[in-house]
Amino acid sequence: MTIQKSTDKEDFGRKGLFRADSFKVFGFEFRCNAQLFIPRLCYNKRAIISPQFSFLNYLCDKYYIMAKDDLFQSPDYYLTDELLSDEHKMVRDATRAFVKKEVSPIIEDFAQRAAFPKDLLPKLAEIGAFGPYIPEEYGGAGLDQISYGLMMQEIERGDSGIRSTCSVQSSLVMFPIFAYGSEAQKRRLLPDLASGKKLGAFGLTEPDHGSNPGGMVTNYVDKGDHYLLNGAKMWISNAPFCDVAVVWAKNEEGRIHGVLVERGMEGFTTPETHNKWSLRASSTGELVFDNVKIPKENLLPGKSGLGAPLSCLDSARYGIAWGVIGVAMDCYDTALRYAKERIQFGKPIGGFQLQQKKLAEMITEITKAQLLTWRLGVLKNEKRATSAQISMAKRNNVDMALKIAREARQMLGGMGITGEYPIMRHMMNLESVVTYEGTHDIHLLITGLDVTGLNAFV
Ligand SMILES: Cc1cc2nc3c(=O)[nH]c(=O)nc-3n(C[C@H](O)[C@H](O)[C@H](O)COP(=O)(O)OP(=O)(O)OC[C@H]3O[C@@H](n4cnc5c(N)ncnc54)[C@H](O)[C@@H]3O)c2cc1C
Repeated sequence: MTIQKSTDKEDFGRKGLFRADSFKVFGFEFRCNAQLFIPRLCYNKRAIISPQFSFLNYLCDKYYIMAKDDLFQSPDYYLTDELLSDEHKMVRDATRAFVKKEVSPIIEDFAQRAAFPKDLLPKLAEIGAFGPYIPEEYGGAGLDQISYGLMMQEIERGDSGIRSTCSVQSSLVMFPIFAYGSEAQKRRLLPDLASGKKLGAFGLTEPDHGSNPGGMVTNYVDKGDHYLLNGAKMWISNAPFCDVAVVWAKNEEGRIHGVLVERGMEGFTTPETHNKWSLRASSTGELVFDNVKIPKENLLPGKSGLGAPLSCLDSARYGIAWGVIGVAMDCYDTALRYAKERIQFGKPIGGFQLQQKKLAEMITEITKAQLLTWRLGVLKNEKRATSAQISMAKRNNVDMALKIAREARQMLGGMGITGEYPIMRHMMNLESVVTYEGTHDIHLLITGLDVTGLNAFV
């Protein structure tokens, strides 16, 4: 159901009411002969919508659909826009407009219901969010690394779960096929992945091997005209809906290779993981292989060893470093606006020193992260960014965003725990982001190893 707001929308302030002159239910348009007030807070709906709209009332309750305004304004304290090219700004602004129109109005509802907004897939493909830096001849957008980063920043500003879907599709599925796949594999799969016709997943983590993926037990055996794959992967984003999975498995010599496993192959199942409090609008599951026959042409021929999946993670971690800046900016922007409006003890809470300390520290940390990440983008464009530099940015920025989300949530008092504001959802999402693609501690060990040359992992 979509609610069409009237052009003379009225702002009823804190009650968050909209005046609507028509609404659509499953494609049928209903015109209202009287004013219809659509409350933003679900629990107000019963009280305010007049009895003649009881059908709408019922639907609102059932589907928890709300009209939502996205007032986001991006902070740019050090004028970092001046470091961006016109193309970067165009990509960033177009993605921002997309998020305001397509993601913000629906995301809270999907996150509350722990549902994956599948309808967004073709729309994300349309703006180039699947394979932004994959060359156009394979269906990608052919953009540079800073444009890719800015896209992730804007999409994650909407929701980390949506950015996760884009990261997996682009960096963990399209990238390995592009970098290590045969020409036939690239031609067959990349255009469909770029257009969102196919959804991909990346299977590295196993139930007993998370931070130590080199210990994986998933394996395949050469059976002459095919391979036979056995094992299981856990915590896999997009798994329940994926059409193709890039799965990392050991051959008989114990060497890790990438294998393309496709939906419909006998013995391949993808059970969903339920009861998550984080990334609720992203679908997570397992990849289970029970004697799956893999055609020989489905092996990625270009690279083997642990370095192959780790190079994909480099690309995804780079996207996360940008993405979480979007989350931090959204939390800061929300808290700043709230602090100027919320009156306690006769003045806006933003006028109290304790609240100003929080806001001042937030904008300082965001600015530092913006500069760090922009520089990393320049190095990445020049193919000079190291894995350790990417680790540092991922670790620093996720930690920064998580701390800002926690502080911002407190600044909103009780309102901070509601879905009326995005902060609590962001905060819960970040608990996954700080864990996946290498935990906070693992990235610290990577930096430690890089600067000392001494391995503290084992
Ligand atoms: C929502 C979600 C989506 C995910 N999506 C994917 C996906 O699409 N594909 C995929 O392959 N994986 C995915 N993952 C898995 C993710 O990458 C792993 O959860 C992560 O690598 C950590 O592994 P683990 O959960 O097994 O934790 P463990 O490795 O068991 O770690 C537990 C704790 O021990 C610490 N630890 C481990 N080793 C050391 C050490 N040597 N020294 C000090 N401390 C150590 C860790 O830092 C952590 O705090 C996803 C995870 C989540 C939560």
